[in-house]
Amino acid sequence: MLINNWNKPSDEKTLHIGFDDTDSVNGRCTTHLSYLISNMLIRKFQVEFVDFPLLIRLNPNVPLKTRGNGAVCLRIRGGNYEKIKEEITHFIENYSELENGANPGLVFYEGNSIDKDLTSFSESAMDTILSKQLAIKIARKNHIQFSIFGKGYGIVGALAATGCLLDSDHTFETIAYRSKENIGTNRKTDDFKVRKLSEQSYPYTYNNFDIKNNRILITPRGPDPVFCGIRGEDPFITTLFLKNLCIEEELDGYMIFRSNQGTNLHLVKENSGINIKPYTSGRITCHVVSTPSVINGGHVIFKIRDGFGSILPVAVYQPTGLTKIASMLIIGDRIEVGYGSHLKSNNQITLNLEYLIIKELARAYNIRNPTCEKCSKNMKSEGKNKGYQCYICKTRIRNGVKIKTEKNRKLKSGLYIPEPIAHRHLTKPSSRYGMEKRFNSMEIKQLLKSTKWIKDSGGLI
Ligand SMILES: [Zn+2]
Repeated sequence: MLINNWNKPSDEKTLHIGFDDTDSVNGRCTTHLSYLISNMLIRKFQVEFVDFPLLIRLNPNVPLKTRGNGAVCLRIRGGNYEKIKEEITHFIENYSELENGANPGLVFYEGNSIDKDLTSFSESAMDTILSKQLAIKIARKNHIQFSIFGKGYGIVGALAATGCLLDSDHTFETIAYRSKENIGTNRKTDDFKVRKLSEQSYPYTYNNFDIKNNRILITPRGPDPVFCGIRGEDPFITTLFLKNLCIEEELDGYMIFRSNQGTNLHLVKENSGINIKPYTSGRITCHVVSTPSVINGGHVIFKIRDGFGSILPVAVYQPTGLTKIASMLIIGDRIEVGYGSHLKSNNQITLNLEYLIIKELARAYNIRNPTCEKCSKNMKSEGKNKGYQCYICKTRIRNGVKIKTEKNRKLKSGLYIPEPIAHRHLTKPSSRYGMEKRFNSMEIKQLLKSTKWIKDSGGLI
């Protein structure tokens, strides 16, 4: 049998390009670099993108990270891959803030499917700490080309982004970039407009405006090239939001990212206390075993015990806005905690609370002495087993029993999440519950084709 498979474009392999840690505290950012690279790939090499550029946020509880701990992956087809790789490597080298503490990693992988090794590495990068050595080992084993610069920590994120299919829940962010001459100047935004657009597009956009604190959340503060980012469920809506903002300054352009932001992907894995390592993220089902106490700064601390007997402290920080709820917990409450684990000065692992689910409230009782039949007042105890006496009419009873009434807990079971101001990039906001998306590669391709997902100063691409 003759199989004619020449001239079949599907035989061409996809080139996956992952990079991370190109930025430093002094500005510049990995998403901007990916915007520049994407422009170059389209204009110079006429490549076809097979997915939106991916913005993948990794374990936010890793101590060693740049501001957002976000890595990028671009998946393309067509063009001269060898030439493309050369060009991108130059971009990373020239653009990255190597002298200011950036430690970039860059990976290239050619293939039409992603190996299990790589997807598991990516999954672990969302909630644990992975070493550069392990990343290099996996890259070598799977014939993945890589380059590292500086200390090269970025290889972990670069490989994790490449291995992230983002094949379950995801969100979109349209990020607008400033032109060179404006970088470092104040960002002028119409806060009222941001608020109005957020309200109009609810629940299809999220965390763009914090109503409670009357604060816009779309602009970063630093000298980086990002003007603003609009987060939401649909790339058309997030981009329309941006356009309707009518930003005064001339922007360089924008790009739409598909992302794991707002999905709680770092809190998916359920753990038992004994297995929790420092600086990891996850969730634990447990009981409250100590009365919550308020410490300096208004933070709340209490202890929990899991089903295997491990006891761990939980810290609820004041900016989360959950301290009041946490302080109302009592011993015996059954809860689930989304956490980031941290090491305190005494070497004790503490779980910093990222969300709280109250599963079952323990019953609490008021206990008081019996009342006097004549005066309807509570009687006084005469001592253990000695009965009670009314302090008004002096009536005595020998066999009185204490009266137990159930307390109103004034607390409801259910989910409690932090205020938007305390959200990490990965935190799932309340408006997203019930909005979870299922990934469908055909639908994503369709969406990509029908969306103007990148615009540079030269106009729409
Ligand atoms: Zn009495």
